[in-house]
Amino acid sequence: MCGIFSYIGSNDNAASIIVEGLKRLDYRGYDSWGVAVSNSHGIFTEKRVGKIGELQNVKNFPKSFIGIGHTRWATTGAVTQPNAHPHFATDKSFALAQNGIVENYEALKKDLIQKGYTFKSETDTEVIVYVIEEELKKKKTLQKAILSAFKKLKGRNTIILVTKDKEVYAARNGSPLVVGFNGDDIYLSSDTLSFAKFAKKMLVIENGQMVQVNGKVRLFDIKNGKERAYKKEPVTITSSEVSKDGFDHFMIKEIFETPGVLEKISRSEEKPYLTLAQAIKKAKHVYTIGSGSTGIAAAQVAFYLRSIGKIQAVSLIGADAVEYAHLFTKDDLLIALSQSGETADVLEVLELAKEQGITIASHVNMPGSIMTRMSDYKYLSEAGPEICVMATKTFSAQVAWGYLLAKTIRGEFASGTKQIAILAQTIQAYLTDKKNHAALQKIAEILVKKDDIFLLGKYQTYNIMREGMVKIVEAAYKHGHALPSGDLKHYVITLMEPGVPVIVGIANDKTKTDLLTAISEVRLRGAEVIAIAAEKNPAFDSFIPVFDTQETMAMMILIPLQLLAYYLAKKLGNSIDKPRNIAKSVTVK
Ligand code: GLU
Repeated sequence: MCGIFSYIGSNDNAASIIVEGLKRLDYRGYDSWGVAVSNSHGIFTEKRVGKIGELQNVKNFPKSFIGIGHTRWATTGAVTQPNAHPHFATDKSFALAQNGIVENYEALKKDLIQKGYTFKSETDTEVIVYVIEEELKKKKTLQKAILSAFKKLKGRNTIILVTKDKEVYAARNGSPLVVGFNGDDIYLSSDTLSFAKFAKKMLVIENGQMVQVNGKVRLFDIKNGKERAYKKEPVTITSSEVSKDGFDHFMIKEIFETPGVLEKISRSEEKPYLTLAQAIKKAKHVYTIGSGSTGIAAAQVAFYLRSIGKIQAVSLIGADAVEYAHLFTKDDLLIALSQSGETADVLEVLELAKEQGITIASHVNMPGSIMTRMSDYKYLSEAGPEICVMATKTFSAQVAWGYLLAKTIRGEFASGTKQIAILAQTIQAYLTDKKNHAALQKIAEILVKKDDIFLLGKYQTYNIMREGMVKIVEAAYKHGHALPSGDLKHYVITLMEPGVPVIVGIANDKTKTDLLTAISEVRLRGAEVIAIAAEKNPAFDSFIPVFDTQETMAMMILIPLQLLAYYLAKKLGNSIDKPRNIAKSVTVK
């Protein structure tokens, strides 16, 4: 899940440009970082444990026009300075960084140890370095050695390396890689946003391709080593200096951006929705897929497709969907949701699905992603950059898109856009009313003292309560357990005792009675009920009032849940925008 960055150009302070790039990539991993620059004296590296520091950290770097950098999310080997990337070749002729996991690294390592290599780190990355060295003994050029070594690696990997001869190579098989151009200045990175401030043109490196930068940028196919022509595309992402705009954290800023995102969806053209609606109607089976919060969004989209669109849609979780692959046929349709469009778990399923000839539709926030490229129907969330590692506005964008899609299938596109416009205004009114924030902060004070938090929902609110649980787990590091209210009596009821907090999301629809029954069942056992609902009820211990937006009410209920997680994390003094151990763009399995 790491971020990789490289600069090759006319500025002799390559290290500071690389550090600046890495800072923009640290949503991808922030347990350690490292930079390697090359000049006529050789390669100089600096590696540190912790978040990427300020520019003064690199003031001691020698002058150099070329280098690579890495921000790590450890998969193999603890978070230590020796395990941070880049890793040196034995003779220091190159330094290498990796994004991914070498799945066969143990076997390769055993072989390399037998061949006499001594490992200085516990990473799979160092294995790649020595595999290249071994290949170099057989091949004439480093380029050929990299190509042949790369083919020996199993798993989804992207590597980047800088040589003492001032060349940069990067090869991709899974984790993202883009090249940015600004005159003679070249940038290589895991995403476009990190160099959007400088680069005017870009080139997305596809899986199975390698780039060599040596004066100019050359592109090769890894399979046969053949050079291929390429066309640069303009950089379309706005590089608008991502700032907190006076908010304390990106999380709260991004929650406040939700109404704008929804309003934009409410102004959508019908045609793209119609195109997909028709394909869905024709499909034999319809699946939705995502991971983490997006997996929950995928479940909510499937819910709307079933309840509003009357389509038999099934939602899958990225990490567990490979077992479905043998069931996919060319008559099926798979809708993939992703913030980054690079989620490894989902991509793995999409690749298998593609082999079966399935039709793929995707809804992605980051433009130019591999997921978008491999899709037959491509949709962009256009929610703008989401800097907080936890998804908030992008989750709302995915769910609202799915709702509108379901409405389109039903022939109610116009009413769908109207509902979303009302929802946007309603959420805006909720967010700007200070009383709501004060009330949620009070409830956060109660929850701060609890270890376990339960969340109940039904039908349209069930997945949203699951998302509330994810936010609480991510932001507050507290145990959360969300379930459909009706399942309570089957097992979770054993845990209901005095003082246990139960958050209930109540839509103003036919599910209300069942939720009130569940509330009575948990209260009888002493649980404290926090209800998010349109109307007050004496059975609530705490009441979070929201407006009744009917069909879209789940999306309304989501907002106080997100805010509650935020205020809880704030009270606990947690790292809100970068919660411990997780990264935003999960490009490893
Ligand atoms: N496998 C490498 C490591 O553990 C890279 C991890 C990643 O890309 O997330 O250092």
